[in-house]
Amino acid sequence: MGVNKRVTLTFDNGPTPGVSPKVFDTLGRRGIKATFFVIGNKLADPAAAALMRAAHAAGHWIGNHTLTHSVAFGEQRDAAVTIREIEETQRRIGACAHPDKLFRPYGKSGRIGPHLLNRAALSLFLEQRYCCVTWNSVPGDWYDPEEWVTRGIRDVEAADWSVVVLHDIAGACAARLGEFIARLDDLGVEYRQDFPDSVVLTRAGREVAMSDAYLGGG
Ligand SMILES: [Zn+2]
Repeated sequence: MGVNKRVTLTFDNGPTPGVSPKVFDTLGRRGIKATFFVIGNKLADPAAAALMRAAHAAGHWIGNHTLTHSVAFGEQRDAAVTIREIEETQRRIGACAHPDKLFRPYGKSGRIGPHLLNRAALSLFLEQRYCCVTWNSVPGDWYDPEEWVTRGIRDVEAADWSVVVLHDIAGACAARLGEFIARLDDLGVEYRQDFPDSVVLTRAGREVAMSDAYLGGG
């Protein structure tokens, strides 16, 4: 059990002063590199923007997690709103952006479904060569800061390559991230910074795992 399991750690909804640095420290002690999917509006706070730059300088990847974290693309039809959610955030990320233009849709509490994308988003991803990344493990650190570790370990044990969604926000994963990593170490996992094709919907102007299951009527 556990041998050859691969784990990619991702942290969404930051950067958060007072929280993200704890996550950076915990990852840094083990030399683990992750991706931080940041919310564009949070970068208006210079302290948050500085945290993004620090994460980038430490070798973490920075991805785009929408401007307002409030628009489920598959449930709205205004292409201009969709495009602004993506492109304005990418502008704010600036030079810290990963060359693949990593983007993660707003998932409404981590759900996969047709609320994630609409045709305007998909067209933009293909034209502007965004890499749209989903996930396959959502342990629920933000609603259960105690028990998420157990669920996360169960997910990792059950899959060959887990892409785990955690959150560098207050009251979420930071307090028990060290314990989670210690248990991952006990399982002998291989930490990866990249993503399996199964969670990559688009990359380099092409569809990868894209399907109608992710596409709403918006
Ligand atoms: Zn989110």
